[in-house]
Amino acid sequence: MRLSKERYPVSVLKELQASIDVRPEYQRPMVWTLKQKRLLIDSILRGYDVPKMYWHRQSQNSEFEFHVVDGQQRLTTIWEFCDGGFALSKTSDPVDGIKTAKLRYADFNTELKKRLHLYSFDIVIVEEATQNDDEDEVREMFLRLQNGTTLKAQEKRNAMTGSMRSFVKEIAQHPFFESCKFSNSRFTYDHIAAQMTCLEIAGEPVSVRDSDLNRMYEEESDFDPKGKVGKKVRRVLDYLKRAFPDHTRELERYNVITLYSLASSLIDNYVHQNTEQKLAEWFIAFETERRADMEKDEDSRDVQLVEYQRLTSYSTDAAESLAKRLEHMQRRFFLAEPDIELIDPTRIFSEAQRLAIYRRDGARCQLRLKCDGTEKLKWDHWHADHIKAHSNGGKTTVANGQVACPDCNFLKSNS
Ligand SMILES: [Zn+2]
Repeated sequence: MRLSKERYPVSVLKELQASIDVRPEYQRPMVWTLKQKRLLIDSILRGYDVPKMYWHRQSQNSEFEFHVVDGQQRLTTIWEFCDGGFALSKTSDPVDGIKTAKLRYADFNTELKKRLHLYSFDIVIVEEATQNDDEDEVREMFLRLQNGTTLKAQEKRNAMTGSMRSFVKEIAQHPFFESCKFSNSRFTYDHIAAQMTCLEIAGEPVSVRDSDLNRMYEEESDFDPKGKVGKKVRRVLDYLKRAFPDHTRELERYNVITLYSLASSLIDNYVHQNTEQKLAEWFIAFETERRADMEKDEDSRDVQLVEYQRLTSYSTDAAESLAKRLEHMQRRFFLAEPDIELIDPTRIFSEAQRLAIYRRDGARCQLRLKCDGTEKLKWDHWHADHIKAHSNGGKTTVANGQVACPDCNFLKSNS
């Protein structure tokens, strides 16, 4: 691998648009918000320093001259702005006395256009020294630049001994993976299958970084594939395959793990017969809404989706990120499907149901027996009340639950 440095002004980046592939398969989904895009153009106009990009030169007979290893968002933002795709913020400060607020590219005067076109980016061009080098070394660099993981990690695990390795290899062949958008290049399926197994062993969101998976392969070297966890992993994947029988473009590398956790919790805790179709329909709708939200003006975006988006972009294998993404999906799923019932015939609402009820009711008491229902109740200071009492056959579902303040709840249960 050979690296060389170039300085290309924005005008050249614009000219090269057709010959650059910004989405080689190892790239992450677009994550920049409108605010970040505006900030980049503003920084360029002010001549501020912007981090360098990495491009990988392709062989002569390829469709594209370059693949972007790092710098995808910067590049697409420049193209989008020059094509009139968005305007600068209404709160933008003038640049050297020239007003820029709310301007689109077409509104720029000669001075602003000159500043934009002449601004130069540092580009590191990656070339393969010999024909024996392959794309993998470049991917390796990309993964290290992005989040410190490496390609070889799963390959190394596949070379380990023990029954965990055999189990993960078997699970990676499950037909559900064929429904996903991503391919199995460099053992992606094995990697995800290992993460799913790790989560299933823990029974809750835990860190599933390479080091955690390595530890699992070592500690579970006599793992029983026909045991409780092994059976459960297969059951969840069978369930997901029934939900998504066909190739589904929304099933991406970054959301399949959370979807697995959601399905796993449905199977454990809720009456799940025939919920496959509901889950699939909800998931497609959720992804459609999320993608549409990303295109919106910064001020009108859904704050929770912005946060979800952030969680899918950084440290995605950390326990906290997985837990918050699962919580987000669960809450939305239960709001969309309020009739899903707990398997356990107790009258206790699950945490996920409680959260959906609390959000739906705006944290306010719905009983209004002693209070007037205007006070916003703190999370640890309310009761999930069965609208139709459990003793009268009322179900423990989000639809049959409501927020009650302690006083009203006490009065209701005593009347
Ligand atoms: Zn009350």
